[in-house]
Amino acid sequence: MSEKQRTIAQSVSFSGKGLHTGKITNTTVFPAEPNTGIRFKRIDLDNTPIIPANPEYVVDTSRGTVIGISKEIFVSTIEHLMASLHALHVNNALIEVDGPEVPILNGSAKPFFDELEKVGTIEQDADLEYLEITEKVVYTEPERNVEIIAYPCDTFRADVHISYDSFMLRNQYASIKDLKDFGTEIACCKTFCFFREIEMMLAANLIKGGDLDNAIVFVDRKVSSEEIARMSKLFPGKEINIEKEGVLNNTELSFENEPARHKLLDLIGDLWLVGKPIKGHIIATIPGHKANTKFAKILRKTIK
Ligand SMILES: [Zn+2]
Repeated sequence: MSEKQRTIAQSVSFSGKGLHTGKITNTTVFPAEPNTGIRFKRIDLDNTPIIPANPEYVVDTSRGTVIGISKEIFVSTIEHLMASLHALHVNNALIEVDGPEVPILNGSAKPFFDELEKVGTIEQDADLEYLEITEKVVYTEPERNVEIIAYPCDTFRADVHISYDSFMLRNQYASIKDLKDFGTEIACCKTFCFFREIEMMLAANLIKGGDLDNAIVFVDRKVSSEEIARMSKLFPGKEINIEKEGVLNNTELSFENEPARHKLLDLIGDLWLVGKPIKGHIIATIPGHKANTKFAKILRKTIK
């Protein structure tokens, strides 16, 4: 008997600040008909336009994955929700958003995953097709040492290697051999940044909704008390200081290699844009949303 497509058993809503706008947005995931895939609907705009979650519609990857069909019609930061849908094998869903981005919540996929897992999924009356990797598929950005390769494999598995120009994140690895481990091993892993980036991002108006609860902040150089005072002002109501190993006191690491696990989370999310579950072993070196989504596009093109 062939495997069937799945959708969620009932609708689930999420509400929270958008990372970029800082405005509260509501996102509701609804069940959807077989063969419709994952689609986002901007219910706050005229004619409630629909944007398919498909690599052809990726319009920006600078700080998260953004899909859109025009300058005004887009949805940002879809990746953590997409990763949860991937891990739970949700092939079809209509996701209504009343603003330009999916809420960042706590910076991980856990709030999405837990709620979606709670309502569960149902089998639909339509066969599920896999994208089977039959020969090596390669994407590279040689100037940045970025590389994503898919190898033939009977199941989906993925390995991630990250390396930053910082002694704190020189080389880190994470892997998943079975998506059933996503909920316990990957979902709770938060996004991260460097202390030195925060002022820059705030100045560029990039992270209005980013407060200190939804990111791991690495401090990889000496920070003066003036800088800490200045940073504290940017996050009213929070007393920040720098504790052990240069990780800001805002959050506890869930795993020693949490950053690599988060990059794996993002990769799993972006690969759900392919539109079919993958049977293949993905090995990603220094992945990011740009590489992930370009790779998803290449894979999607291999579907006949
Ligand atoms: Zn992420």
